Amino acid sequence: MKIITDYFKSLVLIELLKGLMLTGKYLFKKNVTVQYPEEKTPISPRFRGLHALRRYPNGEERCIACKLCEAVCPALAITIESEQREDGSRRTKRYDIDLTKCIFCGYCEESCPVDSIVETHIFEYHGEERSDLYMTKDKLLAVGDRYEKDIAANRAADAKFR
Ligand code: SF4
Ligand code: SF4
Repeated sequence: MKIITDYFKSLVLIELLKGLMLTGKYLFKKNVTVQYPEEKTPISPRFRGLHALRRYPNGEERCIACKLCEAVCPALAITIESEQREDGSRRTKRYDIDLTKCIFCGYCEESCPVDSIVETHIFEYHGEERSDLYMTKDKLLAVGDRYEKDIAANRAADAKFR
């Protein structure tokens, strides 16, 4: 019986008519296409984009070179070398993230006890050479300095989800 029904359906092009009805249903509805890059969709406060290293308001680096982020990174993308300053505090003398290895899991951000390493909402970046995607400490601090206001706002919004 099913064979006969299927044969009849194919004969009167029922599937085609169903498809055309669906097309007709959406033909005059409001267009939902986003005209990127002029238009952008909202981003979750938890979005994980380009990394940044943050400072305290007095300009001091937050990072205390505890190396938790380096230890937790599943992609082995973080390389840290530390030193002791004259005042006895411990700071990094090298903090690199190889973005060609990074899988943007966010573990580094989660593990940091002082909110130093964060993932920003920046996703429009590229590298023309491999070295462009090798983020050194200076580059990471520069991103943090430039976008600190946005980063702080996102951290506050993200805290509401926790
Ligand atoms: S986001 Fe994940 S993979 Fe990338 S540096 Fe952080 S811990 Fe490593
Ligand atoms: S960024 Fe945070 S977790 Fe990583 S070494 Fe610095 S203080 Fe430790």
